[in-house]
Amino acid sequence: MEHQNPFTPHVVLIPTPMQGHVTPTFHLAELLCLAKLNVTLLTSTYVHQRINKSIEARFARYPGFKLEAVSDGLPDDYPRTGKDGCWASIQGFALTAQPFLREMLSSVGTSVTCLLVDGWLGFANNLAKEFGIPLIAIRCFSAAYYWLDAYLVKLIEDERIPFKEEDMDKLVENVPGLDTFLRNRDLPSFCRTKDRATCLGLQQAFADEVQRTSEAYGLILNTFEDLEGPLLSLLRSKCPRVYSIGPLHSHLKHRLDEEKTTLPISSSSLWEVDQSCLSWLDKKPAESVIYVGFGSLTILEKEQILEIWEGLVQSNKYFLWVIRPNLVIGGENGTPTPTALLEGTKERGCIVSWAPQEAVLAHPAVGGFLTHSGWNSTLESITAGVPMLCWPYFADQQVNSRYVGEVWKIGLDMKDKCDRKVVAEMVNDVLDRKKDELKESMARMSEAAKKSVTEGGSSYCNLDRLIQDIKMMSIKGAD
Ligand code: UDP
Repeated sequence: MEHQNPFTPHVVLIPTPMQGHVTPTFHLAELLCLAKLNVTLLTSTYVHQRINKSIEARFARYPGFKLEAVSDGLPDDYPRTGKDGCWASIQGFALTAQPFLREMLSSVGTSVTCLLVDGWLGFANNLAKEFGIPLIAIRCFSAAYYWLDAYLVKLIEDERIPFKEEDMDKLVENVPGLDTFLRNRDLPSFCRTKDRATCLGLQQAFADEVQRTSEAYGLILNTFEDLEGPLLSLLRSKCPRVYSIGPLHSHLKHRLDEEKTTLPISSSSLWEVDQSCLSWLDKKPAESVIYVGFGSLTILEKEQILEIWEGLVQSNKYFLWVIRPNLVIGGENGTPTPTALLEGTKERGCIVSWAPQEAVLAHPAVGGFLTHSGWNSTLESITAGVPMLCWPYFADQQVNSRYVGEVWKIGLDMKDKCDRKVVAEMVNDVLDRKKDELKESMARMSEAAKKSVTEGGSSYCNLDRLIQDIKMMSIKGAD
Protein backbone atom coordinates (compact mmCIF):
# COMPACT_ATOMS: atom_id res chain seq x y z
CA MET A 1 0.00 0.00 0.00
CA GLU A 2 1.18 3.48 -0.85
CA HIS A 3 1.23 4.83 2.71
CA GLN A 4 3.80 2.16 3.62
CA ASN A 5 6.13 3.21 0.81
CA PRO A 6 9.17 4.90 2.42
CA PHE A 7 8.97 7.67 -0.20
CA THR A 8 5.37 8.56 0.59
CA PRO A 9 5.46 12.14 1.88
CA HIS A 10 4.72 12.63 5.55
CA VAL A 11 3.26 15.99 6.53
CA VAL A 12 2.71 17.26 10.06
CA LEU A 13 -0.22 19.66 10.49
CA ILE A 14 -0.46 21.91 13.54
CA PRO A 15 -3.56 24.10 13.91
CA THR A 16 -4.11 26.65 16.65
CA PRO A 17 -6.26 24.68 19.13
CA MET A 18 -9.52 26.57 18.57
CA GLN A 19 -12.68 25.50 16.74
CA GLY A 20 -12.30 27.94 13.83
CA HIS A 21 -8.80 26.63 13.11
CA VAL A 22 -9.27 22.98 14.01
CA THR A 23 -12.22 22.47 11.61
CA PRO A 24 -10.56 23.72 8.39
CA THR A 25 -7.27 22.02 9.31
CA PHE A 26 -9.00 18.65 9.73
CA HIS A 27 -10.59 19.22 6.32
CA LEU A 28 -7.15 19.88 4.85
CA ALA A 29 -5.75 16.81 6.64
CA GLU A 30 -8.45 14.67 5.05
CA LEU A 31 -7.82 16.15 1.61
CA LEU A 32 -4.15 15.20 1.98
CA CYS A 33 -5.10 11.70 3.17
CA LEU A 34 -7.26 11.33 0.05
CA ALA A 35 -4.15 12.14 -1.98
CA LYS A 36 -2.52 9.20 -0.12
CA LEU A 37 -0.06 11.27 1.87
CA ASN A 38 0.86 10.26 5.41
CA VAL A 39 -0.52 12.85 7.77
CA THR A 40 0.09 13.55 11.47
CA LEU A 41 -2.09 16.19 13.11
CA LEU A 42 -0.94 17.66 16.41
CA THR A 43 -3.51 19.32 18.64
CA SER A 44 -4.21 19.98 22.33
CA THR A 45 -5.59 17.31 24.66
CA TYR A 46 -8.54 19.67 25.32
CA VAL A 47 -9.48 19.53 21.62
CA HIS A 48 -8.60 15.84 21.34
CA GLN A 49 -10.85 14.77 24.20
CA ARG A 50 -13.77 16.69 22.75
CA ILE A 51 -13.55 15.36 19.21
CA ASN A 52 -11.98 12.00 19.88
CA LYS A 53 -14.76 9.60 18.90
CA SER A 54 -16.00 11.41 15.82
CA ILE A 55 -12.49 11.92 14.48
CA GLU A 56 -11.47 8.33 15.14
CA ALA A 57 -14.45 7.17 13.09
CA ARG A 58 -13.86 9.73 10.37
CA PHE A 59 -10.16 8.96 9.85
CA ALA A 60 -10.26 5.19 10.45
CA ARG A 61 -10.30 4.66 6.69
CA TYR A 62 -6.91 6.37 6.26
CA PRO A 63 -4.11 4.12 7.58
CA GLY A 64 -1.54 6.89 7.06
CA PHE A 65 -3.31 9.27 9.48
CA LYS A 66 -2.20 9.80 13.06
CA LEU A 67 -3.57 12.16 15.71
CA GLU A 68 -1.24 13.40 18.47
CA ALA A 69 -2.11 15.64 21.40
CA VAL A 70 -0.30 17.66 24.06
CA SER A 71 -1.71 19.60 26.99
CA ASP A 72 -2.20 23.38 26.80
CA GLY A 73 -1.50 23.42 30.55
CA LEU A 74 -4.91 24.92 31.41
CA PRO A 75 -7.57 23.27 33.57
CA ASP A 76 -10.31 21.56 31.56
CA ASP A 77 -12.96 24.06 32.65
CA TYR A 78 -10.81 27.12 31.84
CA PRO A 79 -12.88 29.40 29.56
CA ARG A 80 -10.95 29.33 26.29
CA THR A 81 -13.13 32.13 24.85
CA GLY A 82 -12.84 35.90 24.31
CA LYS A 83 -9.51 37.62 23.65
CA ASP A 84 -7.72 36.59 26.85
CA GLY A 85 -8.95 33.00 26.92
CA CYS A 86 -7.87 32.41 23.32
CA TRP A 87 -4.45 33.87 23.91
CA ALA A 88 -3.87 31.78 27.06
CA SER A 89 -4.72 28.54 25.24
CA ILE A 90 -2.48 29.39 22.27
CA GLN A 91 0.48 30.22 24.51
CA GLY A 92 -0.05 27.16 26.72
CA PHE A 93 -0.27 24.89 23.67
CA ALA A 94 2.87 26.37 22.08
CA LEU A 95 4.85 25.74 25.27
CA THR A 96 4.23 21.99 25.23
CA ALA A 97 3.93 21.49 21.47
CA GLN A 98 7.44 22.84 20.91
CA PRO A 99 9.36 20.12 22.84
CA PHE A 100 6.96 17.50 21.46
CA LEU A 101 7.68 18.54 17.88
CA ARG A 102 11.41 18.72 18.55
CA GLU A 103 11.31 15.14 19.87
CA MET A 104 9.33 14.02 16.86
CA LEU A 105 11.69 15.63 14.36
CA SER A 106 14.78 14.23 16.14
CA SER A 107 13.51 10.69 16.50
CA VAL A 108 15.15 8.17 14.22
CA GLY A 109 12.64 6.53 11.93
CA THR A 110 10.20 9.45 11.76
CA SER A 111 10.88 11.20 8.54
CA VAL A 112 8.89 14.40 8.09
CA THR A 113 8.66 15.89 4.60
CA CYS A 114 7.00 19.16 5.47
CA LEU A 115 5.33 21.08 8.31
CA LEU A 116 1.97 22.76 7.69
CA VAL A 117 1.52 25.14 10.59
CA ASP A 118 -0.88 27.86 11.66
CA GLY A 119 0.67 31.32 11.26
CA TRP A 120 0.38 32.05 14.99
CA LEU A 121 2.58 29.16 16.11
CA GLY A 122 6.02 30.71 15.60
CA PHE A 123 7.90 27.97 17.48
CA ALA A 124 7.50 25.61 14.52
CA ASN A 125 9.32 27.99 12.16
CA ASN A 126 12.43 27.88 14.36
CA LEU A 127 12.34 24.09 14.48
CA ALA A 128 11.76 23.87 10.72
CA LYS A 129 14.89 25.96 10.19
CA GLU A 130 16.91 23.96 12.71
CA PHE A 131 15.96 20.62 11.11
CA GLY A 132 16.05 21.89 7.52
CA ILE A 133 12.40 20.95 6.87
CA PRO A 134 10.18 23.08 4.61
CA LEU A 135 7.29 24.82 6.37
CA ILE A 136 4.10 25.98 4.72
CA ALA A 137 2.08 28.51 6.72
CA ILE A 138 -1.67 27.99 7.09
CA ARG A 139 -3.83 31.03 7.72
CA CYS A 140 -7.45 30.34 8.64
CA PHE A 141 -8.46 33.93 7.81
CA SER A 142 -9.17 35.77 4.58
CA ALA A 143 -6.42 36.92 2.21
CA ALA A 144 -7.47 40.51 2.94
CA TYR A 145 -6.88 40.06 6.65
CA TYR A 146 -3.42 38.60 6.14
CA TRP A 147 -2.56 41.41 3.71
CA LEU A 148 -3.76 43.97 6.25
CA ASP A 149 -1.56 42.47 9.01
CA ALA A 150 1.55 43.60 7.16
CA TYR A 151 0.20 47.16 6.91
CA LEU A 152 -0.88 47.29 10.56
CA VAL A 153 2.82 47.29 11.44
CA LYS A 154 3.23 50.48 9.40
CA LEU A 155 -0.02 52.06 10.64
CA ILE A 156 1.13 51.64 14.24
CA GLU A 157 4.61 52.90 13.40
CA ASP A 158 3.11 56.05 11.83
CA GLU A 159 0.91 56.51 14.92
CA ARG A 160 -2.26 56.25 12.84
CA ILE A 161 -3.25 53.55 15.34
CA PRO A 162 -4.55 54.18 17.98
CA PHE A 163 -6.98 56.45 16.11
CA LYS A 164 -9.30 59.04 17.61
CA GLU A 165 -12.89 58.18 18.52
CA GLU A 166 -14.20 60.80 16.07
CA ASP A 167 -12.22 59.22 13.21
CA MET A 168 -14.07 55.90 13.29
CA ASP A 169 -15.59 56.45 9.83
CA LYS A 170 -12.44 57.82 8.21
CA LEU A 171 -10.95 55.70 5.44
CA VAL A 172 -7.67 53.96 6.27
CA GLU A 173 -5.06 55.53 3.97
CA ASN A 174 -2.23 53.92 2.04
CA VAL A 175 -3.21 50.29 2.32
CA PRO A 176 -3.26 49.08 -1.30
CA GLY A 177 -6.35 47.09 -2.21
CA LEU A 178 -8.29 48.19 0.86
CA ASP A 179 -8.05 51.96 1.18
CA THR A 180 -11.08 52.77 -0.93
CA PHE A 181 -13.57 51.17 1.45
CA LEU A 182 -11.94 50.14 4.74
CA ARG A 183 -12.62 52.57 7.58
CA ASN A 184 -10.96 52.73 10.98
CA ARG A 185 -14.16 51.10 12.27
CA ASP A 186 -13.43 48.08 10.06
CA LEU A 187 -9.92 47.49 11.35
CA PRO A 188 -9.48 44.45 13.62
CA SER A 189 -11.02 45.14 17.05
CA PHE A 190 -7.68 45.32 18.85
CA CYS A 191 -6.82 48.48 16.84
CA ARG A 192 -9.37 50.27 19.03
CA THR A 193 -7.06 50.18 22.01
CA LYS A 194 -6.06 53.60 23.30
CA ASP A 195 -2.91 52.27 24.88
CA ARG A 196 0.30 52.91 22.94
CA ALA A 197 2.18 50.12 24.79
CA THR A 198 -0.43 47.52 23.73
CA CYS A 199 -0.10 48.83 20.17
CA LEU A 200 3.65 48.40 20.20
CA GLY A 201 3.24 44.82 21.48
CA LEU A 202 0.82 44.13 18.62
CA GLN A 203 3.16 45.76 16.13
CA GLN A 204 5.93 43.37 17.15
CA ALA A 205 3.61 40.36 16.99
CA PHE A 206 2.44 41.28 13.46
CA ALA A 207 5.94 42.08 12.27
CA ASP A 208 7.17 38.67 13.51
CA GLU A 209 4.28 36.86 11.92
CA VAL A 210 4.69 38.58 8.56
CA GLN A 211 8.43 37.89 8.66
CA ARG A 212 7.83 34.18 9.43
CA THR A 213 5.32 33.82 6.61
CA SER A 214 7.60 35.54 4.11
CA GLU A 215 10.32 33.01 5.02
CA ALA A 216 7.96 30.05 4.70
CA TYR A 217 7.97 27.84 1.59
CA GLY A 218 4.38 28.87 0.89
CA LEU A 219 1.08 30.04 2.30
CA ILE A 220 -2.19 28.09 2.37
CA LEU A 221 -5.39 30.14 2.50
CA ASN A 222 -8.97 28.98 2.96
CA THR A 223 -10.35 31.27 0.26
CA PHE A 224 -10.90 31.24 -3.50
CA GLU A 225 -9.86 33.34 -6.48
CA ASP A 226 -13.31 34.67 -7.45
CA LEU A 227 -13.85 35.89 -3.89
CA GLU A 228 -10.51 37.55 -3.22
CA GLY A 229 -8.70 37.68 -6.59
CA PRO A 230 -7.32 41.26 -6.28
CA LEU A 231 -5.94 40.65 -2.78
CA LEU A 232 -4.49 37.28 -3.75
CA SER A 233 -2.63 38.95 -6.62
CA LEU A 234 -1.20 41.53 -4.23
CA LEU A 235 -0.17 38.77 -1.82
CA ARG A 236 1.55 36.85 -4.61
CA SER A 237 3.75 39.88 -5.27
CA LYS A 238 5.25 39.33 -1.79
CA CYS A 239 4.88 35.60 -1.35
CA PRO A 240 5.19 33.57 -4.56
CA ARG A 241 3.56 30.32 -3.49
CA VAL A 242 0.07 31.16 -2.32
CA TYR A 243 -2.26 28.15 -2.35
CA SER A 244 -5.86 29.39 -2.19
CA ILE A 245 -7.76 26.11 -1.82
CA GLY A 246 -11.08 27.01 -0.18
CA PRO A 247 -13.80 26.82 0.78
CA LEU A 248 -12.22 23.77 2.41
CA HIS A 249 -15.47 22.25 3.74
CA SER A 250 -16.98 22.28 0.28
CA HIS A 251 -13.72 21.21 -1.37
CA LEU A 252 -13.55 18.13 0.85
CA LYS A 253 -17.17 17.22 0.12
CA HIS A 254 -16.49 17.43 -3.58
CA ARG A 255 -13.34 15.29 -3.47
CA LEU A 256 -15.13 12.68 -1.35
CA ASP A 257 -17.95 12.62 -3.89
CA GLU A 258 -15.39 12.00 -6.62
CA GLU A 259 -14.15 8.99 -4.64
CA LYS A 260 -17.78 7.85 -4.37
CA THR A 261 -17.31 7.67 -0.60
CA THR A 262 -20.61 7.02 1.07
CA LEU A 263 -19.44 7.83 4.59
CA PRO A 264 -20.54 11.30 5.75
CA ILE A 265 -17.97 13.88 6.89
CA SER A 266 -18.33 13.60 10.63
CA SER A 267 -18.00 16.71 12.69
CA SER A 268 -14.89 18.07 14.36
CA SER A 269 -17.12 20.05 16.72
CA LEU A 270 -15.85 20.74 20.22
CA TRP A 271 -19.45 20.80 21.49
CA GLU A 272 -22.16 18.19 21.30
CA VAL A 273 -24.28 18.93 18.24
CA ASP A 274 -28.04 19.29 18.83
CA GLN A 275 -29.66 17.92 15.66
CA SER A 276 -33.21 18.58 16.93
CA CYS A 277 -33.24 22.04 15.37
CA LEU A 278 -33.33 20.42 11.91
CA SER A 279 -36.77 18.92 12.60
CA TRP A 280 -37.87 22.33 13.94
CA LEU A 281 -36.71 23.85 10.63
CA ASP A 282 -38.54 21.15 8.65
CA LYS A 283 -41.84 22.64 9.83
CA LYS A 284 -41.09 26.20 8.72
CA PRO A 285 -41.82 27.80 5.31
CA ALA A 286 -39.00 28.33 2.81
CA GLU A 287 -36.54 31.16 3.65
CA SER A 288 -38.60 32.26 6.66
CA VAL A 289 -36.02 31.71 9.44
CA ILE A 290 -33.06 33.80 10.56
CA TYR A 291 -30.27 31.58 11.92
CA VAL A 292 -28.31 33.29 14.71
CA GLY A 293 -24.86 32.00 15.61
CA PHE A 294 -21.80 33.75 17.00
CA GLY A 295 -19.23 30.97 16.62
CA SER A 296 -17.10 29.39 19.32
CA LEU A 297 -15.24 32.31 20.93
CA THR A 298 -17.60 35.30 21.13
CA ILE A 299 -18.72 36.34 24.59
CA LEU A 300 -21.62 38.71 25.25
CA GLU A 301 -22.68 40.91 28.13
CA LYS A 302 -26.12 40.09 29.54
CA GLU A 303 -27.38 43.50 28.23
CA GLN A 304 -26.20 42.66 24.70
CA ILE A 305 -27.89 39.29 24.66
CA LEU A 306 -31.14 40.88 25.84
CA GLU A 307 -31.01 43.57 23.09
CA ILE A 308 -30.45 40.94 20.41
CA TRP A 309 -33.15 38.71 21.87
CA GLU A 310 -35.68 41.57 22.06
CA GLY A 311 -34.80 42.48 18.47
CA LEU A 312 -35.37 38.94 17.26
CA VAL A 313 -38.75 38.71 19.00
CA GLN A 314 -39.77 42.18 17.74
CA SER A 315 -38.81 41.25 14.18
CA ASN A 316 -41.80 38.87 14.13
CA LYS A 317 -39.71 36.37 12.20
CA TYR A 318 -38.80 32.78 13.08
CA PHE A 319 -35.35 32.48 14.61
CA LEU A 320 -32.99 29.63 15.41
CA TRP A 321 -30.35 30.76 17.88
CA VAL A 322 -27.20 29.05 19.14
CA ILE A 323 -26.55 30.04 22.75
CA ARG A 324 -23.37 28.23 23.81
CA PRO A 325 -23.17 27.48 27.56
CA ASN A 326 -20.25 29.96 27.82
CA LEU A 327 -21.68 32.66 25.52
CA VAL A 328 -22.76 35.09 28.23
CA ILE A 329 -20.24 36.73 30.55
CA GLY A 330 -21.11 35.74 34.10
CA GLY A 331 -23.64 33.17 32.85
CA GLU A 332 -27.23 33.49 34.02
CA ASN A 333 -26.51 36.07 36.69
CA GLY A 334 -29.80 35.64 38.44
CA THR A 335 -31.70 38.34 36.47
CA PRO A 336 -34.94 36.73 35.28
CA THR A 337 -35.55 36.78 31.51
CA PRO A 338 -38.58 39.00 30.71
CA THR A 339 -41.76 36.96 30.23
CA ALA A 340 -42.52 38.62 26.86
CA LEU A 341 -39.22 37.30 25.52
CA LEU A 342 -39.94 33.78 26.69
CA GLU A 343 -43.44 33.94 25.16
CA GLY A 344 -42.09 35.31 21.86
CA THR A 345 -39.45 32.59 21.77
CA LYS A 346 -42.01 29.88 22.42
CA GLU A 347 -44.03 31.13 19.44
CA ARG A 348 -41.29 31.74 16.91
CA GLY A 349 -37.92 30.71 18.30
CA CYS A 350 -35.73 27.68 18.81
CA ILE A 351 -32.62 27.85 21.01
CA VAL A 352 -29.87 25.21 20.99
CA SER A 353 -26.45 25.12 22.60
CA TRP A 354 -24.60 24.01 19.43
CA ALA A 355 -26.08 23.49 15.97
CA PRO A 356 -25.06 21.42 12.93
CA GLN A 357 -24.25 24.76 11.27
CA GLU A 358 -23.52 23.59 7.74
CA ALA A 359 -26.75 21.54 7.64
CA VAL A 360 -28.71 24.46 9.11
CA LEU A 361 -27.40 26.86 6.47
CA ALA A 362 -28.23 24.36 3.74
CA HIS A 363 -31.81 23.95 5.02
CA PRO A 364 -34.45 25.52 2.69
CA ALA A 365 -36.23 27.19 5.65
CA VAL A 366 -33.20 29.39 6.43
CA GLY A 367 -33.31 32.77 4.69
CA GLY A 368 -30.61 34.70 6.57
CA PHE A 369 -27.71 34.33 9.00
CA LEU A 370 -27.11 36.76 11.86
CA THR A 371 -23.42 36.05 12.35
CA HIS A 372 -20.32 37.28 14.17
CA SER A 373 -18.55 37.10 10.77
CA GLY A 374 -16.01 34.44 11.69
CA TRP A 375 -14.20 33.39 8.51
CA ASN A 376 -15.54 29.81 8.51
CA SER A 377 -19.08 30.99 9.09
CA THR A 378 -18.70 33.51 6.27
CA LEU A 379 -17.49 30.84 3.84
CA GLU A 380 -20.19 28.38 4.95
CA SER A 381 -22.88 31.02 4.39
CA ILE A 382 -21.48 31.86 0.95
CA THR A 383 -21.40 28.19 -0.08
CA ALA A 384 -24.99 27.72 1.11
CA GLY A 385 -26.09 30.96 -0.63
CA VAL A 386 -27.54 32.50 2.56
CA PRO A 387 -27.33 36.33 2.91
CA MET A 388 -25.76 37.55 6.16
CA LEU A 389 -26.50 40.11 8.82
CA CYS A 390 -23.10 40.79 10.37
CA TRP A 391 -22.44 41.68 13.98
CA PRO A 392 -18.65 41.25 14.29
CA TYR A 393 -17.08 40.63 17.69
CA PHE A 394 -13.27 40.71 17.33
CA ALA A 395 -10.06 40.09 15.35
CA ASP A 396 -10.65 39.60 11.59
CA GLN A 397 -14.45 39.78 11.93
CA GLN A 398 -14.61 43.58 11.53
CA VAL A 399 -12.83 43.27 8.16
CA ASN A 400 -14.93 40.31 7.00
CA SER A 401 -18.20 42.09 7.72
CA ARG A 402 -17.08 45.15 5.74
CA TYR A 403 -16.36 42.92 2.75
CA VAL A 404 -19.78 41.24 3.09
CA GLY A 405 -21.69 44.54 3.25
CA GLU A 406 -19.65 46.86 1.04
CA VAL A 407 -17.57 44.85 -1.41
CA TRP A 408 -19.40 41.61 -2.14
CA LYS A 409 -22.83 43.01 -1.24
CA ILE A 410 -24.05 39.66 0.04
CA GLY A 411 -25.29 40.89 3.40
CA LEU A 412 -25.67 43.85 5.73
CA ASP A 413 -23.15 45.10 8.28
CA MET A 414 -24.65 45.89 11.72
CA LYS A 415 -21.21 46.57 13.22
CA ASP A 416 -21.07 48.47 16.53
CA LYS A 417 -24.82 48.57 17.00
CA CYS A 418 -26.54 46.46 19.58
CA ASP A 419 -30.02 47.87 19.71
CA ARG A 420 -33.28 45.93 19.61
CA LYS A 421 -34.88 48.27 17.02
CA VAL A 422 -31.89 47.99 14.68
CA VAL A 423 -31.84 44.19 15.04
CA ALA A 424 -35.58 43.93 14.29
CA GLU A 425 -35.31 46.29 11.28
CA MET A 426 -32.26 44.61 9.79
CA VAL A 427 -33.61 41.08 10.23
CA ASN A 428 -36.61 42.25 8.17
CA ASP A 429 -34.29 43.82 5.61
CA VAL A 430 -32.42 40.55 5.11
CA LEU A 431 -35.49 38.30 5.07
CA ASP A 432 -37.83 40.63 3.14
CA ARG A 433 -37.08 44.17 2.05
CA LYS A 434 -33.56 43.69 0.66
CA LYS A 435 -33.84 39.97 0.12
CA ASP A 436 -33.90 39.98 -3.69
CA GLU A 437 -30.85 42.18 -4.24
CA LEU A 438 -28.83 40.33 -1.58
CA LYS A 439 -29.85 36.94 -2.92
CA GLU A 440 -28.87 37.88 -6.45
CA SER A 441 -25.27 38.77 -5.59
CA MET A 442 -25.07 35.89 -3.12
CA ALA A 443 -26.22 33.40 -5.78
CA ARG A 444 -23.39 34.53 -8.08
CA MET A 445 -20.78 34.20 -5.31
CA SER A 446 -22.13 30.86 -4.16
CA GLU A 447 -21.93 29.50 -7.69
CA ALA A 448 -18.33 30.73 -8.00
CA ALA A 449 -17.45 29.04 -4.69
CA LYS A 450 -18.81 25.70 -5.93
CA LYS A 451 -17.06 26.04 -9.27
CA SER A 452 -13.71 26.75 -7.62
CA VAL A 453 -13.61 23.31 -5.95
CA THR A 454 -14.67 21.23 -8.94
CA GLU A 455 -12.23 19.82 -11.48
CA GLY A 456 -10.54 22.65 -13.40
CA GLY A 457 -11.59 25.22 -10.78
CA SER A 458 -8.97 27.46 -9.15
CA SER A 459 -9.00 25.89 -5.67
CA TYR A 460 -9.05 22.40 -7.14
CA CYS A 461 -5.98 23.14 -9.28
CA ASN A 462 -4.20 24.91 -6.41
CA LEU A 463 -4.68 21.89 -4.14
CA ASP A 464 -3.27 19.60 -6.83
CA ARG A 465 -0.29 21.96 -7.10
CA LEU A 466 0.22 21.90 -3.32
CA ILE A 467 0.19 18.10 -3.29
CA GLN A 468 2.57 17.97 -6.22
CA ASP A 469 4.96 20.40 -4.52
CA ILE A 470 4.95 18.29 -1.33
CA LYS A 471 5.61 15.15 -3.38
CA MET A 472 8.55 16.91 -5.04
CA MET A 473 9.96 17.83 -1.60
CA SER A 474 9.84 14.18 -0.63
CA ILE A 475 11.61 13.07 -3.82
CA LYS A 476 14.31 15.74 -3.35
CA GLY A 477 14.68 14.78 0.33
CA ALA A 478 15.16 11.13 -0.69
CA ASP A 479 17.98 11.98 -3.18
N1 UDP B 1 -20.23 25.99 14.42
C1 UDP B 1 -21.05 24.88 14.50
N2 UDP B 1 -22.16 24.96 15.27
C2 UDP B 1 -22.50 26.07 15.96
C3 UDP B 1 -21.66 27.21 15.86
C4 UDP B 1 -20.54 27.13 15.07
O1 UDP B 1 -20.77 23.85 13.89
O2 UDP B 1 -23.53 26.06 16.64
C5 UDP B 1 -19.01 25.90 13.57
C6 UDP B 1 -19.17 26.70 12.32
O3 UDP B 1 -19.82 25.89 11.33
C7 UDP B 1 -17.73 27.08 11.96
C8 UDP B 1 -17.05 27.14 13.32
O4 UDP B 1 -17.91 26.48 14.25
O5 UDP B 1 -17.14 26.07 11.17
C9 UDP B 1 -16.82 28.56 13.80
O6 UDP B 1 -15.77 29.12 13.10
P1 UDP B 1 -15.76 30.67 12.74
O7 UDP B 1 -14.49 30.93 12.01
O8 UDP B 1 -16.99 31.06 12.03
O9 UDP B 1 -15.79 31.41 14.13
P2 UDP B 1 -14.93 31.29 15.47
O10 UDP B 1 -15.55 30.21 16.28
O11 UDP B 1 -13.51 30.99 15.09
O12 UDP B 1 -15.10 32.63 16.09
